[in-house]
Amino acid sequence: MWILRRYAFCTFTRAAAQQIPVLSRVSREKYKEKRRMKYVLVTGGVVSGLGKGVTASSIGVVLKACGLRVTSIKIDPYLNTDAGTMSPFEHGEVFVLDDGGEVDLDLGNYERFLDVTLTKDNNITTGKIYQSVLEKERKGDYLGKTVQVVPHITDAIKDWIESVSLIPVDGKEGPADVCVIELGGTVGDIESMPFIEALRQLYFSVGQDNFCLIHVSLIPVLGVVGEQKTKPTQHSVRELRALGLIPHFLACRSAQPLVENAKQKLSQFCHVPVANILNIHDVPNIWHVPLLLRNQSAHDAILKQLDLLSVARHVDLQEWTRRAETSDNITKSVRIAMVGKYVGLTDSYLSVVKALMHACIACSLKPSIDWIAASDLEDDSAKLGAACVLVPGGFGDRGVKGMILAARYARENSVPFLGICLGMQISVIEFARSVLHLDKANSEEFDPQTPDRVVIFMPEGSKTHMGSTMRLGSRRTLFQTPDCIAAKLYNNSEYVDERHRHRYEVNPDIVGSLEEAGLKFVGRDESGKRMEILELQDHPFYIGVQFHPEFKSRPGRPSAPFLGLVLAATGQLEAFVKRQQNGNV
Ligand code: GLN
Repeated sequence: MWILRRYAFCTFTRAAAQQIPVLSRVSREKYKEKRRMKYVLVTGGVVSGLGKGVTASSIGVVLKACGLRVTSIKIDPYLNTDAGTMSPFEHGEVFVLDDGGEVDLDLGNYERFLDVTLTKDNNITTGKIYQSVLEKERKGDYLGKTVQVVPHITDAIKDWIESVSLIPVDGKEGPADVCVIELGGTVGDIESMPFIEALRQLYFSVGQDNFCLIHVSLIPVLGVVGEQKTKPTQHSVRELRALGLIPHFLACRSAQPLVENAKQKLSQFCHVPVANILNIHDVPNIWHVPLLLRNQSAHDAILKQLDLLSVARHVDLQEWTRRAETSDNITKSVRIAMVGKYVGLTDSYLSVVKALMHACIACSLKPSIDWIAASDLEDDSAKLGAACVLVPGGFGDRGVKGMILAARYARENSVPFLGICLGMQISVIEFARSVLHLDKANSEEFDPQTPDRVVIFMPEGSKTHMGSTMRLGSRRTLFQTPDCIAAKLYNNSEYVDERHRHRYEVNPDIVGSLEEAGLKFVGRDESGKRMEILELQDHPFYIGVQFHPEFKSRPGRPSAPFLGLVLAATGQLEAFVKRQQNGNV
């Protein structure tokens, strides 16, 4: 009878192919008690910059769409402890987490795609691992043993992964079902060897059913005939296999869809079933990537590999489909002048660009960004022909003159303006110079000797201790009045928690004079001493924020200051604010 029933269940499962039944809550809980963490490892081959992060996040999205809880870990094999000291010119933006972690920008992708809140420990670097091993060595924890890459570094990596995978990141209790681990760099890099070895050991210890390896690779096209070349992928898979890791899936990046012949070749020479060769060809926007995976039934195959078919539900990507299609069909655009220091490389402001995109799409618009190097603007604000101006965050005095010019232009010409972190400090300097006639007004960051210190060094900790003086991570801002645009944009809230990354702040001693002249500080921290949000009176939209709202923007849930900027740039802000006042947005 049991066998029969079991058989009936299996046939139902197969018959329902796409419609995987949801287990009752009780059996799911029971299952969870016994189950182990399931790992999906994403490695990369052939070249860097393949979009491994987007691929790994999209795999997370399809698994989440099957009802599973997903967390993620990004491994960066470089020696830096974290991304905090790395130049955005070289490595793209430094992403900031709630807990103050300064991490690789891929963690931003995970947070946005999976709608989770990660911790600094979700970003592992060689620097962090060595630091933890060396600390233990100094404490004598290795009991006189020779401390070696294998087993001590590899053990530390495994322990780190296993314990961090258990941290809940989606606001629910208990660990996630699946942990997606992205190994940065390309297989074969010397610096990633200890990680590969640790992951091989992890695979061995957790077993077949709990580990799934997806290798992301490139299929280039050569010559006039345009043949899709599989050899580079074959070589990188061979390299991976030589290190003891056999991929279950290939995720092949290509310009055009993969032809059947290329798939067959890849399958035969890379030892991967055709059904497990996923193709991620170029798409109009990255929101299509989870859909591409779903269309190839990647979710089913991955669930099967991880023995999760019985606990998953039917894949539901309605929201993603709608979002991807809406974005494809938008024809109208809004011009945004972005006046910053690192404008040569869009990755340097990746989250700002994403936040603009989320806000624009909410208004059925496409962002058309005029990248303006602040240093080019030093004597010519005529370059600012856009519908609005955004001055993003930054460090150092390069381009400051141009940013001040941009803030002035926006203020005097009633052009909607958003200043983020450095951008807010710039607007204060500009206002103090032009309106309060403090000609030498400056930030201590740019001129430590200035007599008119309008932006000052205000560490949260010691003034004398120079290490860790940055104000990092989530801090609360209290709205001083419900009657300001910012509070309305933030859904009439009394406060908002946003992420910070700065050392300098508006000098509280000058706030009275600035406010009297019309620059109101409508958001402050809990002590009332730190200025968090400013609004210029009698201007359609002129807002500065000391925090970085871009880090918490999500697809479908645009960040308030960005939404305000886009609404103002397209003449929709007033109607929005009115609707907010009546409570019917
Ligand atoms: N350089 C400024 C400070 O440290 C602004 C920092 C930023 O824009 N992230 O305060």
